Amino acid sequence: QYFSDVVKKAIRTVPNWPEEGVMFRDITTALQDRTVFRKLIDAFIHRYHHLSIDAVAGVDARGFIIGSVLAYELNASFVPIRKKGKLPFDTVSESYELEYGRAEVEIHKDAFQQGDKVILVDDLIATGGTLLAASSLIERLGADIIEAAAIIDLPDLGGSKKLRDKGLAVYSVCEYA
Ligand code: IMP
Repeated sequence: QYFSDVVKKAIRTVPNWPEEGVMFRDITTALQDRTVFRKLIDAFIHRYHHLSIDAVAGVDARGFIIGSVLAYELNASFVPIRKKGKLPFDTVSESYELEYGRAEVEIHKDAFQQGDKVILVDDLIATGGTLLAASSLIERLGADIIEAAAIIDLPDLGGSKKLRDKGLAVYSVCEYA
């Protein structure tokens, strides 16, 4: 509880960005604070180090920051899940609904071995669309998602519930209601 308050204090809220009415939760201030950054990574390591994780999949782009450090510390591989058109080799892709329009995420088709134990990471869960699409990619490649993890959950937007209803384990360090 105390730890999640420390993290929340370090996250900056920027009102009306990227558009009017949005309260943008900005993690750069938490990353800039070396004590908070270390505690944040340590929390994820502590949660997963005993589980023999094979790979950490991070979502473009802020999921790369936490995901790659976590993968290194877990002695696991790192797999990027990217926005459409960025990965050079053969990919599988999933498109999903945004508030306005659609988005598409991709993964290299040779990213995992069958049955790999994977932690999926992003910075924030809003509607859950991004992590849901990312999780389908991982499952389509035959890997097992041990947990979907984020720094921030916005539970009022229903994303984490949607992910849990699909049978995924979900972890977040802190929530904004
Ligand atoms: P969702 O797909 O609706 O769950 O939105 C989550 C995605 O949008 C994540 O990749 C986040 O990085 C991004 N996102 C949405 N709102 C915020 C925010 O307030 N701060 C940082 N990222 C956000």
